[in-house]
Amino acid sequence: MTNALNGAGTSLRDTMILIPEIPGEWTQRTRSGSTQVWNDPWHKTGLPEVRMEPPTKGLFADRIDGAWYWVCACEKCLGTGKSYNYSPCEAHDRCVTCNCSRAELAEAPWGARDGGWRCKPCQEKLDAARKAEALAAAEANGHSEDDCVYTSDIICPYCATKQNSDARHESAQGLECGTCGGKFDLEVEWSPSYTTTKARAQAQQKGPQQ
Ligand SMILES: [Zn+2]
Ligand SMILES: [Zn+2]
Ligand SMILES: [Zn+2]
Repeated sequence: MTNALNGAGTSLRDTMILIPEIPGEWTQRTRSGSTQVWNDPWHKTGLPEVRMEPPTKGLFADRIDGAWYWVCACEKCLGTGKSYNYSPCEAHDRCVTCNCSRAELAEAPWGARDGGWRCKPCQEKLDAARKAEALAAAEANGHSEDDCVYTSDIICPYCATKQNSDARHESAQGLECGTCGGKFDLEVEWSPSYTTTKARAQAQQKGPQQ
């Protein structure tokens, strides 16, 4: 058993703490946030419902060889690469940019791409930096509306950022660039393509019917 249960940088991944309160025969356990719930009435096991909090943030209860243990649930500590960390440990429940804790947040954070989160001030700084960078690059490249005509991608006429074109099948007005915030109108044009197949009745024949 590892006891590196707190402090930044330590890993919970090898934690295995027996939970003597929970009989090993019990098999029904659900998770409600960090709370572990055995025999949730919804499952009608007939057994008493028991709720427990893990001794340390980032652990959850798992049944191993017929007994219940607190083990690591933090995807980051486990290195699973999962994009959502349901039970982050104390060290991994922090802003991926400034490392502030959840308790220090004044406003709801933004999800970060790697499964963590970013505090609002850090996200705003990052967005502003991305915007300035894109606009500067567009200016340096002489980007203009002329570069946005009959393109295969939807290109922002201000900052040249490629926009998401999924489900954009129709022309629209007043769209907003996710990078620079510039408003733009979009026209979608479809070019026809053609398919021919041999008429069913003639499909077996080599050439056209006389
Ligand atoms: Zn962790
Ligand atoms: Zn931050
Ligand atoms: Zn833009």
